[in-house]
Amino acid sequence: MQHLQNYFPTLVVETLLGRNSPKISRHERKTSTWWSGVPKASPDSIFGIVEAFKKDETPHKINLSVGAYRDDNGKPYVLPSVLKAEEILKSKNLNKEYALAEGLSEFNSLSFDYAFGTCNEVGKKGLNATVQTLSGTGALSLFASFAKKFFPHAKTMYLPKPTWGNHAPVFKNAGLETKDYKYYDFKTFGLDYDGMLEDLCKVPEHSMVLFHACAHNPTGMDPSKEQWEELCELVKQKKLFAFFDMAYQGFATENPDNDAFAVRHFSKNNLKFAVAQSYSKNLGLYGERTGTLTVIADSQEERAKIISQLKTLIRTTYSNPPIHGARIVTEILSNSQLKKEWMAELKGMVQRLVSIRKALRDALVKEGSKHNWDHIVKQVGMFSYTGMKPEQVDKITKEHHIYLTKDGRISIAGVTTKNVEYIACAMHQVTK
Ligand code: PMP
Repeated sequence: MQHLQNYFPTLVVETLLGRNSPKISRHERKTSTWWSGVPKASPDSIFGIVEAFKKDETPHKINLSVGAYRDDNGKPYVLPSVLKAEEILKSKNLNKEYALAEGLSEFNSLSFDYAFGTCNEVGKKGLNATVQTLSGTGALSLFASFAKKFFPHAKTMYLPKPTWGNHAPVFKNAGLETKDYKYYDFKTFGLDYDGMLEDLCKVPEHSMVLFHACAHNPTGMDPSKEQWEELCELVKQKKLFAFFDMAYQGFATENPDNDAFAVRHFSKNNLKFAVAQSYSKNLGLYGERTGTLTVIADSQEERAKIISQLKTLIRTTYSNPPIHGARIVTEILSNSQLKKEWMAELKGMVQRLVSIRKALRDALVKEGSKHNWDHIVKQVGMFSYTGMKPEQVDKITKEHHIYLTKDGRISIAGVTTKNVEYIACAMHQVTK
């Protein structure tokens, strides 16, 4: 104590010992910790459902909340092409050294070609600033941080309404503001294209707008090619900055080139935009966190500067990305035989989803439902936006042990030939 007083005046010592803090009771002093002021965050909507599902002891419970592919036995699916790529990697005896901050360069360049096509002018001119990311979410959040620091205009990201539940939190977390534009007509269960145009026409010039490149989550409704062409014109006229979230390339139409139509069309029209890419769904690499972010630059000098800043953001958050998933993708995309096998497996996944959509709609009709469920068949991708209301969702969970998000979205991948009738019966019971 004496030693301490040589360095600090008495008052400071008294304060340090808590004698000058009458506002804090002895009890509080005992119970308050460094982190006692941390409020509990509200649980992520999907992971909260997964927790509730785990606790449910009913054997016939069904989880339709998570967007991960399941086979017709309801089991996760590791693609055979992925297993083959892993065998090849094993035989190569590679080391586990760090990747560069921007990731594996061959992976980045093959991924860019997968998204933009091999004959793309941007690629030929070397204008793509492409970096490996922690899958699609990592690409979104990296872009958000980059935009927060360097986007020269209003830092607002316009999002379709509805959109993937994590979009707004990711952008807000980086300090951007988010606003909505109309996307879906809840009455017709279709794309509200007119509403979308109306809202996007009102967006201030030089704003950032997010588009789902294909297989829109949660609605499963995408603009047609003609509509994308018109949207491209609008983006050009209004000088908007487009950011494509392409989390499902290949999952909408089973043809990755078709699914990349919007991205390639915008690129053909010389627009400068950004793309987040993910291999979670189309290659089943969910837990490997494999994706890219591409920002198109105006010149090679600009590209070098963008890359340098993306690398700085990566370096200060996680230093460098994981290598295993990127190596798998590199093996597959650089080996024509393996790529062919992957394309067949991707087709197989999409075709199962298409046929189970039809089976679900037919089973609802068979149950005698008076509602029109055709939208289930019209929608594409991993999800169906069923139109079930929150109270119907509560009921189907409580009474039938079927778990889904409050907005009535079901993961079609969780529906199988074995459970489709049970699901249809339950949907009919809660919607009649
Ligand atoms: N964007 C959309 C629209 C998604 O649906 C998802 C996954 N649900 C992601 C991005 C991110 O997925 P991941 O981080 O696994 O690539």
